[in-house]
Amino acid sequence: MRVSRARLLKFTHDDARNPAMIETERLCKRYGAIDAVADLDLRVAPGQVLALLGPNGAGKTTTMRMIAGFLLPSSGSARVCGHDVVREPMAARRALGYLPEGAPSYDELSVAEFLAFAARVRGLGGVAGSRRMDEMIERLQLQPVLAQTIETLSKGYRRRVCLAQALLHDPPALILDEPTDGLDPNQQREVHALIRGMARDRAIIVSTHALDEVRAVCNRVAILAGGRLRAQGSPAELERQSRYHHAVSFRAPASALAREMLARMPEVDAVEVDPVDARVTVFPREGRDIFGAVVRLLEEQHVRIDELQLERGRLEDVFRRVTEEAADLPRAA
Ligand code: ATP
Repeated sequence: MRVSRARLLKFTHDDARNPAMIETERLCKRYGAIDAVADLDLRVAPGQVLALLGPNGAGKTTTMRMIAGFLLPSSGSARVCGHDVVREPMAARRALGYLPEGAPSYDELSVAEFLAFAARVRGLGGVAGSRRMDEMIERLQLQPVLAQTIETLSKGYRRRVCLAQALLHDPPALILDEPTDGLDPNQQREVHALIRGMARDRAIIVSTHALDEVRAVCNRVAILAGGRLRAQGSPAELERQSRYHHAVSFRAPASALAREMLARMPEVDAVEVDPVDARVTVFPREGRDIFGAVVRLLEEQHVRIDELQLERGRLEDVFRRVTEEAADLPRAA
């Protein structure tokens, strides 16, 4: 869904009863002549898990680093639980858990030492602090590596140690930069379950290149390209923008004649065949419902089909279109 500033403001107003825990307003970061991030308005309320998507260099990490207080904005503002990240940095940081890109830079510490250090920095001491550490160790399954130094950990364990550190103080707002980068499929599933479990009363931003991850954990999507917000909505809203929305697909040794007949139907826009798996996709003209008519025609033509599907739409398709359009636009303001 394309966004205009008027629409975003309306969104802010409509959600007054569910105030944002993470919010940016006209947030900008310039590097020389390049707008790494430009005029970015985002709001994430409790219960929302926002996927921040975009091609390499879109401005995702820069945005997250500004919200986390690790990078000063050139202009605009960011707030965490109402605290401006520049004017009230300590309060904003207390309310936020941040999983940065990469690994913790305390290579020579053991995992246990690193987590104890992170707990102290967060002001978590005594029984409550050690209970919370035990909980994180348990949830992220870190017991086998507690005594190991961070430099000797596999990539997946490093990521999980980092995640434990971000969640230690049980913050109401979370920013997770590629949380499952380097994790095997089982660990990815665990982390997805962890994020879903935390989502109910927290505001969470997840940056990822994995669109399966978006479907697994996110209920909002923002697509950045060239530093600007290009599309925003729920996954279903964005999928409806895809040319695959309400397309009918099936696998069949469909005859060229049947395909031609499908293509000639007035409500059909195009028919495509995937050469790898022989899946035929019939695309509707905008707003048309073709399912019944396609199935009827296939029956009349006695075409045997498998795996008949009415498509919801594809995020990949919207992502490609939005980012390709943006690639043609200049980056600097
Ligand atoms: P990726 O998916 O590759 O992680 P990203 O969406 O996180 O990319 P950013 O790392 O935020 O993108 O970078 C946004 C833009 O800002 C890029 O063009 C990048 O080269 C530029 N950039 C980032 N940091 C700096 C810096 N310190 N100096 C100059 N340019 C920078």
